[in-house]
Amino acid sequence: MARLEQFEVPCRECGKPLVFIRTKSGKNMPCEAEPVFYWPDDNGPLMFYQRNGTYERGTLQGHPAVPQGSGYVPHWGRCRKNEAIPPNGERRRSPLEQLIHERVQRERAEAEERRLRAEARAAETAALREAEARQMKLF
Ligand SMILES: [Zn+2]
Repeated sequence: MARLEQFEVPCRECGKPLVFIRTKSGKNMPCEAEPVFYWPDDNGPLMFYQRNGTYERGTLQGHPAVPQGSGYVPHWGRCRKNEAIPPNGERRRSPLEQLIHERVQRERAEAEERRLRAEARAAETAALREAEARQMKLF
């Protein structure tokens, strides 16, 4: 991939390396720097660009026996800026991450509760000992 390096530019939004492909219509299309295999398909959901500016419709999922092409997919829609941290500072979690997060929060709360109870018990014991000590002094 070394020969492509001079064309790679990091995305201003997410820092991912991009290549800019000049299409036949003269537009600069920012694409993922890493080419992908695809199956040409007129009804495919994606456009796949070539270095020379040509492009065709295709899909990332095809039959392994059918010949594949290799091309560049547009960066828009794949930009990680869409995963950026929202204003409340909490990244959106996947359902599994959310489950783990909730379990960790619960365990943390339980540990904190245990700590507070132990502290209260220790304070009670200390107060009791102090009272005992005070009583001893009276005699
Ligand atoms: Zn980006």
